[in-house]
Amino acid sequence: METPKNENFRDSIGTINEEGKRAWVYPKKPSGKFYKYRKWVSYGLLLFLVSAPFIKINGNQFLLFNVIERRFNIFGAPFWPQDFHLFVISMLIGVIFITLFTVAFGRIFCGWICPQTIFMEMVFRRIEYWIEGDRGKQIRLDKQSWNAEKIRKRILKWSVFFIISFLIANVFLAYLIGSDKVIEYVVSGPFKNISTLVSLLIFTAVFYFVFAWFREQVCIIACPYGRLQGVLLDSKSIVVAYDYKRGEKDSGRARFKKNEDRPSTGKGDCIDCFQCVHVCPTGIDIRNGTQLECVNCTACIDACDHMMEKVNLPKGLIRYASEDNIAKKAKFTFTPRLKGYSAVLVILTGVFLGMSFLRNDVEANILRLPGQLYERKENNIISNVYTYKLVNKTTLKIEDIHFELLSHKGKIELVTHQNFNIPEQGLSEGTLFIEINGAALKGDKDRLKIGVYSKNELIETTTTAFLGPRSYN
Ligand code: SF4
Ligand code: SF4
Repeated sequence: METPKNENFRDSIGTINEEGKRAWVYPKKPSGKFYKYRKWVSYGLLLFLVSAPFIKINGNQFLLFNVIERRFNIFGAPFWPQDFHLFVISMLIGVIFITLFTVAFGRIFCGWICPQTIFMEMVFRRIEYWIEGDRGKQIRLDKQSWNAEKIRKRILKWSVFFIISFLIANVFLAYLIGSDKVIEYVVSGPFKNISTLVSLLIFTAVFYFVFAWFREQVCIIACPYGRLQGVLLDSKSIVVAYDYKRGEKDSGRARFKKNEDRPSTGKGDCIDCFQCVHVCPTGIDIRNGTQLECVNCTACIDACDHMMEKVNLPKGLIRYASEDNIAKKAKFTFTPRLKGYSAVLVILTGVFLGMSFLRNDVEANILRLPGQLYERKENNIISNVYTYKLVNKTTLKIEDIHFELLSHKGKIELVTHQNFNIPEQGLSEGTLFIEINGAALKGDKDRLKIGVYSKNELIETTTTAFLGPRSYN
């Protein structure tokens, strides 16, 4: 069966032409109420994205994702590999929060908050408009031969894109290895740290590729969140939508004719001006319905509102609305699905807050040396050998550390030193012996409780196993 003509858009994505090649999108420069709001939101987010790695709370970088050293800071709170469960829970909270938001409000995150959209539409695209002009001028420039004007504009654009990509790469690196190190490398000169310079240039090349060429393809092809829309959205989700009931009416959309009594003709309110299509950064026609390419950027709302104003029709032909709202005039409801997601979100947040609150500043691990049994000494003394590892999660040095046996009478002997310090955000490890009189043991494998003291103040407790001979059972 032949696909109906108006259903052809379902056969391929909006940025692939009939020959299967990339159809370059030249979106018209947006303007209007939503664009103005989005600009303000993007200024705030850009400021946050750029400054977050340079803000410190109690000496901790505000946001840090140091995968190599396995150190993560979220909102100034450091997470160590030992806190991995908390990190996983916080990530789950983030995923469920975005899922909940998507079920209720569609891809609003993509249009307003996603760094890809923010950098693409509010930084790189605006530079492009500034250098090459609006849609019509860009199309003409692309088609014209390589004359002096085209060479000048292209070199200027690519150079500015490269510089901005390089700056973004520096900020990105600050999230990964820490802003202090990035500043140190900048001050000491790029050629003193060739490996960092190489990473920086690779990141720059990736950002340049994404923003100068790959562009909307990130949202359409590469982004897993975008691909999830088909599963998450339902007829109650509020998305950027074309009111086809109003736009098409009985006789369908039609061009605007001056002085016509449009309501009496049965024609829809859509005047088929294509402004919503020309302004779309993903190259789609929103009048075909919700499509996976749509990033809910609202540019088509502004464009259509502008046209409606011009022809004296009510605004909102394209607006934030659900399918049910358009088809049945249904209002937004808190569906059982939304309630379910909200309940999971509340529970996880509670678990996360509880676990964060109970989290200690010091993490102690004392483990028996693998392969070692116990040693019997004079006067019925049984000795076990252990390795210990103490992690200091704070930004202050913890001084004068020693261990004490809390569950049994006995003594703890460190191999190298008795009292020691743990450096700030560092760890101390070593070997120790625990000696207990055989008569004090309850069995051949006792559980010991050990206290970690700093200047005689108990700062952490931990447990470990102690092996003894069977005859003491
Ligand atoms: S259809 Fe509208 S909201 Fe969706 S991407 Fe295009 S312009 Fe943005
Ligand atoms: S901008 Fe509005 S009136 Fe113009 S084609 Fe799009 S939906 Fe129709």
